[in-house]
Amino acid sequence: MLHHQEYSKSVPTRSTLNLKADCERCFGLCCVALPYSASADFATDKDAGVPCSHLQTNFRCGVHDRLKQLGYRGCTVYDCFGAGQQVSQNTFNEQSWRQTPETAKQMFEVFPIMRQLYEMLWYLSEALTLEPACSLHTDIQIALDETMHLTNLDPDSLIQLDVAAHRAHINPLLLQVSELVRNEGSGRDKVPSLHRKTLGRGADLIGAKLKGANLRYANLRGAYLIAADLRDADLRGADVIGADFRDADLSGADLTESIFLTQLQLNAAKGSESTKLPPSLVHPMHWIVNCS
Ligand code: SF4
Repeated sequence: MLHHQEYSKSVPTRSTLNLKADCERCFGLCCVALPYSASADFATDKDAGVPCSHLQTNFRCGVHDRLKQLGYRGCTVYDCFGAGQQVSQNTFNEQSWRQTPETAKQMFEVFPIMRQLYEMLWYLSEALTLEPACSLHTDIQIALDETMHLTNLDPDSLIQLDVAAHRAHINPLLLQVSELVRNEGSGRDKVPSLHRKTLGRGADLIGAKLKGANLRYANLRGAYLIAADLRDADLRGADVIGADFRDADLSGADLTESIFLTQLQLNAAKGSESTKLPPSLVHPMHWIVNCS
């Protein structure tokens, strides 16, 4: 195993941090708090704070099995990293916006803030498992503890939180982790440095033909890979934080040791059962069953 190791039983994992959306324990917050606009992803417009017309009284989606057919592709992609159940169960003590409408506005403001904090927990918890970044693990643990503390603030404090400032505090740490992991891996595996220079943060790779490409340890931070052909590409060790994989074809690609990959990125891409993924992520249903 190259990296992604557990260092001790006390190291928080994505599982112990509950970084997986549990819609059963959420008051349908993504379907209410967030706005959407008529587009290729959504059939209609909706303002923030207005329940989607398809949201049922039990907070479940009434068209869950027909989202794509009805033009709600955006809903099939979204991932809250577990922020929804945290806001519903803890921040607002299991009191839904239907039960206590006076808290609804506050709850809908808190949700996107919590979602950003949970996304940071996702990255930090992964960073703690990366062996080449062990020299940073104390700093990462502190940042993770700080972020966890913020997720437990009361609603007023969360709304006042400067989440952008906290993100700006975390990002340099994640960048250092990425450099350590990719430098160590590419040096050891003797990966040519050419593509490590030609690619890079925010690279425009829209529609790029990268079938079978060796992208090991590449810097794909924030890269635009929309509709790129990445079939059978080797992305092990590549940093894909914030990369836009919408409609990219990852069929047969190897992402097993990619860094900072999220379920949302996979949900937005195409792929197949033969696509290799890190253990904490799953093959989206539409990769397995052709339901487009
Ligand atoms: S269509 Fe379903 S999943 Fe999408 S916002 Fe509406 S209720 Fe939520």
